[in-house]
Amino acid sequence: MSNVEATPVELVCGATTAHRPVEVLKPRDVPLGGPRAMSVRRTLPQRERTMIGAWCFADHYGPDDVSETGGMDVAPHPHTGLQTASWLFTGEIEHRDSLGVHAMVRPGELNLMTGGAGICHSEVSTSNTTILHGVQLWIALPDAHRHAPRNFQHHAPAPITIDGATVRVFLGTLCGETSPVETYSPLLGAELVLAPHADLTLAVNPEHEHGLLLDQGTATLNGTHLTPGELAYTATGPTTLHVTNPGDTPARAVLLGGTPFGEEIVMWWNFVGRTHEEIEAFRAEWQAESPRFGKVTGYPGDRLPAPPLPTGRLRPRGNPA
Ligand code: MN
Repeated sequence: MSNVEATPVELVCGATTAHRPVEVLKPRDVPLGGPRAMSVRRTLPQRERTMIGAWCFADHYGPDDVSETGGMDVAPHPHTGLQTASWLFTGEIEHRDSLGVHAMVRPGELNLMTGGAGICHSEVSTSNTTILHGVQLWIALPDAHRHAPRNFQHHAPAPITIDGATVRVFLGTLCGETSPVETYSPLLGAELVLAPHADLTLAVNPEHEHGLLLDQGTATLNGTHLTPGELAYTATGPTTLHVTNPGDTPARAVLLGGTPFGEEIVMWWNFVGRTHEEIEAFRAEWQAESPRFGKVTGYPGDRLPAPPLPTGRLRPRGNPA
């Protein structure tokens, strides 16, 4: 008898703990545009997996010497149906949005912008920045809340030390620490800094699926080795995650989690919607400078025009069963 699956998964048999196979999502390089084109490593969405909980977009960038890359300069652009979560390891980004918020994004501080019904913002690394290094994450809003009003929240979590790791919980609950920032679906977001040879067993919500994005150093998730830039996925079920740093230098990672989203979304450019027609309408409204998105003041330059829509119909995305 042979396994007739085309792509059989590796199974851990006889393991004493509830460790399941880990799916490793590899990043692809995406230039952000602009004259010197800083590029990011994107792990979500991709063909194999489009979401982890409500996390629907994960860009990882740096460490970049801004004197070489020009840093980040993203002109005013719109969002719908999502929240943007900015988390930096190094550097500083100036955020301006159509809610009227002018804020600095700094290392170890969550900046969460809600662009439900519509918002626009600009992001520019500041002159204080020599090295730019961080993640930009998007959270899809569930249908009942996807037209939520514009909002902007900031939270600088206190670091917790546990088993050779420093943990900063910016969304949800981990290690007994709960972020005060409310979410529209059950979510987890935390930074883990692992000392050399750290060995950590994290109690997690078994209703969550999880993703561990390795920023630097070496790490294993439930025994699977990761290299920087990779995002390791585990499905719902286990009550613990086993994370180690087998290396001689510190490792840093971002742990994402959430209950499987359960809704199909249509994602195109900076919009999250539910149908092709809705995305088409959002695009037309942005091009027409509709009040849906408002205006950014103080950005020295033009807003980003929307790219042309693809010729085919945009199809909804969901995860494989
Ligand atoms: Mn944005």
